Amino acid sequence: MKNIVILGGGIIGLCSGYYLSEAGHKVTIIDKGDLSEGCSYGNAGMIVPSHIIPLAQPGMISKGIKWMFDSKSPFYVEPRLNWELISWGLKFYKYANDKHVTRSMPALRDLSLLSKNLYKDLSSKLDTFYYQEKGLLMLFKTEKVGEEEYHAGKEALNLGLEVDFLEQNDIPNLETGVATSAIGAVHYKSDAHLYPQKFMSFLKEEFLKNGGQISDKTEIENVYFKKNRIQSIQTNKGLFEADDFVLAAGSWSPELARLFNTKLSILPGKGYSFTLKNQGVKPEIPSILCEGKVAVTPMANDLRFGGTMEITHTGNTKINKNRVQGIVNTINEFYPNLNIGLPKESETWYGFRPCTPSGMPIIDKSDTYDNLILATGHAMMGLSLAPATGKLVQELVDSEKLSVDTNLFKI
Ligand SMILES: Cc1cc2nc3c(=O)[nH]c(=O)nc-3n(C[C@H](O)[C@H](O)[C@H](O)COP(=O)(O)OP(=O)(O)OC[C@H]3O[C@@H](n4cnc5c(N)ncnc54)[C@H](O)[C@@H]3O)c2cc1C
Repeated sequence: MKNIVILGGGIIGLCSGYYLSEAGHKVTIIDKGDLSEGCSYGNAGMIVPSHIIPLAQPGMISKGIKWMFDSKSPFYVEPRLNWELISWGLKFYKYANDKHVTRSMPALRDLSLLSKNLYKDLSSKLDTFYYQEKGLLMLFKTEKVGEEEYHAGKEALNLGLEVDFLEQNDIPNLETGVATSAIGAVHYKSDAHLYPQKFMSFLKEEFLKNGGQISDKTEIENVYFKKNRIQSIQTNKGLFEADDFVLAAGSWSPELARLFNTKLSILPGKGYSFTLKNQGVKPEIPSILCEGKVAVTPMANDLRFGGTMEITHTGNTKINKNRVQGIVNTINEFYPNLNIGLPKESETWYGFRPCTPSGMPIIDKSDTYDNLILATGHAMMGLSLAPATGKLVQELVDSEKLSVDTNLFKI
């Protein structure tokens, strides 16, 4: 049994804590917040083996440049004269090619399928988080986007995922909850969804039941090293010693990594969501409204919409109404009968997706310190990939054979 300290109590930190405590370790999670909000709570709750194409892909840069001049567009890079942004952008440019996509797809598929199986296991233990396997519909309104989606669907089919290609007339047979003006869809049958807040509560309870400890509102003040090991961490709540440390601080990982003399290229991709409570008329199946990149997820009696990706900094905490209006416009274009209005600012949630320039997560042992593991950079797939990441962190700590190849998940 080892003593482990995890830095960051989002879904990645909590899943790591859960699998480490299941394996019999004594685990403490340290978080500067109170583990009640943030990126792991208001997201769209989609478990997406379908998402095998990383964000760094051909065509993304030209699309991004076009979208930058539209204040309601789904993607935006906040221009700043900042070396981290320039360096991230140059790396993104280097990765946005076919070779990177071809290499990444099987690795993402394997990680995702492992995660989905672990979600299945967790839900059979106690499903308090509304886990459902209804797949994901990629709905589109234009021929051009339809072609792109069919192409992505065929790639997924070739990699062994279950995919259906739907014409306009087929959609109402599957989506019986609400009418849509989409002209076609790709249905990824392998995808699933859940209610993120409920899953986070479930995880916390299971972790605490296993003897795990949570130290919230805890700020790190200093780190002590002995040769090539981290010995302890000084915080406002005292000194934490451990055999191993796990860095899982999402978009804040680079600033924490600096304390461990480690450079991480991760920028926050800010996104928004809002949730309609007790929504009577709502889609039955989670969907992505492709032209506007809006995610739509039915969650128990509620309905959540999420979207936009603004590459920015963690100090950017304002709600940008134009971007939220962009989400609302897309919803009303796809679902003519829903009549969704702009949510109040107090009802609009935002979160920072931790984005690496390769579009691949980092699940790796540190090169610098023997007892540091990095688990971060999951961008738009952190919920989907969290159980698999937690399991791999446990396997790295215990020097066990890894459940999937992690060669592409290195810094
Ligand atoms: C609109 C939107 C929709 C999304 N939809 C989906 C989806 O459908 N499916 C999916 O898979 N993913 C989705 N995501 C992405 C997903 O939410 C993230 O990838 C995931 O939540 C990241 O988890 P994390 O644990 O790495 O980071 P976080 O949840 O951000 O957790 C990091 C934690 O570290 C803590 N921390 C920060 N600094 C310190 C410090 N100095 N000391 C201690 N603790 C610290 C923070 O307080 C925080 O609790 C979506 C994101 C957005 C914004």
